[in-house]
Amino acid sequence: MDKNPSNSIKILVTAGPTREPIDPVRYISNLSSGMMGYEIATECEKRGFDVCLISGPVEISPPKGVDTIYVTTASEMRDKVNEQIESSGCIIMTAAVCDFRPDKIKEQKIKEDESLTLKLVKNPDILKGIENNKDLVKVGFALETENAVENAKKKIKEKFLDLIVLNEKTESNEPFGPGEKRARILDNKGNIKEFNKVTKPELARVLIDEIEGLL
Ligand code: C5P
Repeated sequence: MDKNPSNSIKILVTAGPTREPIDPVRYISNLSSGMMGYEIATECEKRGFDVCLISGPVEISPPKGVDTIYVTTASEMRDKVNEQIESSGCIIMTAAVCDFRPDKIKEQKIKEDESLTLKLVKNPDILKGIENNKDLVKVGFALETENAVENAKKKIKEKFLDLIVLNEKTESNEPFGPGEKRARILDNKGNIKEFNKVTKPELARVLIDEIEGLL
């Protein structure tokens, strides 16, 4: 018998950084390892959900049994998300999407004796751009360095989220990579659940527990 009655639901997970090219050999990116999204995809697969993982460039192996699509830029990630979203019942955006990209990609490698000023333009906001649909559970992640709860609440409203996972980068909490972290899960009704010293696999489990209650 099925352990999970919701197992026909597809969960779309994004993970890792995006990479925005400057020239053929250089790019703008961030420190995201992809681990959180890969743990979530693994946990969803274990619970019998249909899972699609859309991943930016990372150094870790794809989760076993999970349909994984690789992308590089935010625009590519947006296009792949839009292709998959209609058939999904939930999107979990752990990806650290670059907010900006160079407005033009230089065709040739920039020479070291050229002076360089980069003009950046805003990338599409993938979560915000997804049409609001009451049957779709939308989960975001926020990494904050100040006014963490206030900023996370603002993102819930602006991006029409059901839940947001809040990570903080402080002197005592390093959100990137493995190990125990402090994290909070906020919902769109103002509830906050706190987790001190939680590993990414543990956080994946409690987050999917919360999401199962919404599906
Ligand atoms: O970067 P920010 O803190 O706004 O990210 C909050 C959420 O929005 C994350 O889940 C992230 O994946 C998503 N996001 C997005 N498109 C962007 C930037 C962020 O979907 N351009």
